[in-house]
Amino acid sequence: MSNIIDGKSVAEQVLAECSEEIAALKNVGITPGLAVVLVGEDPASKVYVGSKVRKCAELGLHSRKIELPVDATQAEVLAVVEELNHDPQIHGILVQSPPPPQIDEEAIVRAIDPAKDVDGFHPTNVAKLALEDGSGFVPCTPAGCMRLLKEAGVETSGAEAVVIGRSMIVGKPMALLLMSKEGNATVTVAHSRTKDLAAVCRRADIIVAAIGRPEFVTADMVKEGAAVIDVGINRVDDATAKRGYRLVGDVAYAEVAPKCSAITPVPGGVGPMTIAMLIANTIKAARQSG
Ligand code: NDP
Repeated sequence: MSNIIDGKSVAEQVLAECSEEIAALKNVGITPGLAVVLVGEDPASKVYVGSKVRKCAELGLHSRKIELPVDATQAEVLAVVEELNHDPQIHGILVQSPPPPQIDEEAIVRAIDPAKDVDGFHPTNVAKLALEDGSGFVPCTPAGCMRLLKEAGVETSGAEAVVIGRSMIVGKPMALLLMSKEGNATVTVAHSRTKDLAAVCRRADIIVAAIGRPEFVTADMVKEGAAVIDVGINRVDDATAKRGYRLVGDVAYAEVAPKCSAITPVPGGVGPMTIAMLIANTIKAARQSG
């Protein structure tokens, strides 16, 4: 019987810690503030932005939602970022991804003051993660995965870890965290050019799947007793579901779970952690601004 890692309850724990820190900061006259910039009308992005702003309100954080039309220019988005960089009430800025095609997302990320880059995507923060400089911001999803491993009692030190996926948002920072002096794992990063991925995965004590392909990791790829963190969020058609689809991860949960010492479900695993770590990063930014 595998240990199902309850991301919702760990996220609640993180947010409870955040509440205490918010109260302490308010006592010294600082209300942490998060600005979320949404360009366009992407329905999923709207949902994400809405839940981030709602979470801020619930916790007593200051928040600003800035919505720009789908035909906004690069200069207009940059002007908003510039204004937020100088707004003393705003400690964290994020521009919701993906923006419309006319927007150069990388240039926008580079324009954000690294001290307010709570997504952790600015090159300064990427470098700080690689350098293990704790003043930087770690991308929220991999930071959440590390916290889940810790709370589930999964020993990363000395473990063979395989991260599937090498994106800047998940795979690469995840590998850096696992191999850091805190994680101390022996890390392999797999991607679409990896040869015999199943054999690579079977070596792993810990698998982190961040691929974006529904139920890609199957039982034959997983060693008995491994811990599996499933980052994937994929919509698959399901006529029996109310919305006509259901969410599945990158791991074939039903067949993989019985082999695992610990596993995250989808939904209810990594997903709830991402927003909790965003709030934690915003509080850190506020603390460091003083
Ligand atoms: P990307 O598309 O940026 O990266 C996917 C990675 O998977 C790439 O490195 C790619 O390799 C690799 N890959 C694709 N196909 C294969 C294959 N057949 N074999 C081995 N590797 C493969 O995705 P993200 O990292 O942004 O996201 C990954 C998943 O995580 C998605 O489902 C996304 O929705 C989810 N996600 C969830 C979040 C959460 O809050 N829970 C937050 C962010 C993402 P290559 O580089 O060679 O192309």
